[in-house]
Amino acid sequence: MGRPRRRPVDRRSERTRGLRASRPADNSRNPAALLIIGVHREELAFGERVAEGLGPELIDLLRIPEGISGRRPHPDQVFYYELQHRELYRQIKDQIHGHYSLVVDLHCGLDQAGPCADVISRDTGLLVCVERQATERFGTTPGSRPVRAVVLEGQASTSSPPGVAQGRTVIPPGVWDDPALCYVGLEVYLRRPGAGDERDWALARWLIRAVLACRPGAQLAADHL
Ligand SMILES: [Zn+2]
Repeated sequence: MGRPRRRPVDRRSERTRGLRASRPADNSRNPAALLIIGVHREELAFGERVAEGLGPELIDLLRIPEGISGRRPHPDQVFYYELQHRELYRQIKDQIHGHYSLVVDLHCGLDQAGPCADVISRDTGLLVCVERQATERFGTTPGSRPVRAVVLEGQASTSSPPGVAQGRTVIPPGVWDDPALCYVGLEVYLRRPGAGDERDWALARWLIRAVLACRPGAQLAADHL
């Protein structure tokens, strides 16, 4: 894969104007993995803190400067909410198409029992691998397992493995069910609103490293997690 090409941004939208993944000048490592932060604007500060602790040699970064609101819509706004998601993800996909084989889309939510997280993908092999890493790291005691795998049922899905929850998402299937792309959504639950704290960021970074180690074709090196 060569240098990222600049693609024309849809001039009708201010939201993703100039949106480009940041890559180091030395592009020799070419990880073909991308971390997206700020799809929901309320979660951008959290994503920035997480990204600060990840080296550029590990994963490229796509920061959405003006994301959409992730707040649950009023029932009469659901159509518009879903439309906004489709449009933003379409623009993101236009920007990254052909450059990346793995996309980690970082989000955050609230849970007083946090920090904990959902890992969401249609790739059951990756999910089972991340769960195994999480069990080794955090143990198997109920209540002490902060990571939950959630499988999205795609076109090519077989039955989901036992113990893996099924989920739905507002993210368009054209992104998470694209055969050319391994999409992984991370929803990290913070104990209080805001940008999170060291424990939250540490869990998110650990998960991103686990996803990279578990990606299709990766040589799993758990001691590096
Ligand atoms: Zn979000």
